[in-house]
Amino acid sequence: MQRDSNRKIALERIEILFELAEKAEDKLADRYVYLARKIAMRFNLKLPKTLKQKFCHHCYIYFKPKRVTVRTSTKNKAVEYTCSECEKVTRYGYQRKKNK
Ligand SMILES: [Zn+2]
Repeated sequence: MQRDSNRKIALERIEILFELAEKAEDKLADRYVYLARKIAMRFNLKLPKTLKQKFCHHCYIYFKPKRVTVRTSTKNKAVEYTCSECEKVTRYGYQRKKNK
């Protein structure tokens, strides 16, 4: 189907954008995240889990090692990403369930 192949291409583009973001400087990387999110929205795609964890879900900056603090919280059973830009915390549970 035409639609499905479009979505596949969209996902590929998103993956490429994140690859580029990894190598790019901060400002450009943020721009790539923005573009990737826009593509995902247009095609109603869910970002793969691995990509989701690469940017701040509050201010959408790309997480480079120096821009984020990663901690595990045994209390919440989650990995906590603290954004250095907006100082908000995004949590990803590692025990499955929850999050839905
Ligand atoms: Zn942030």
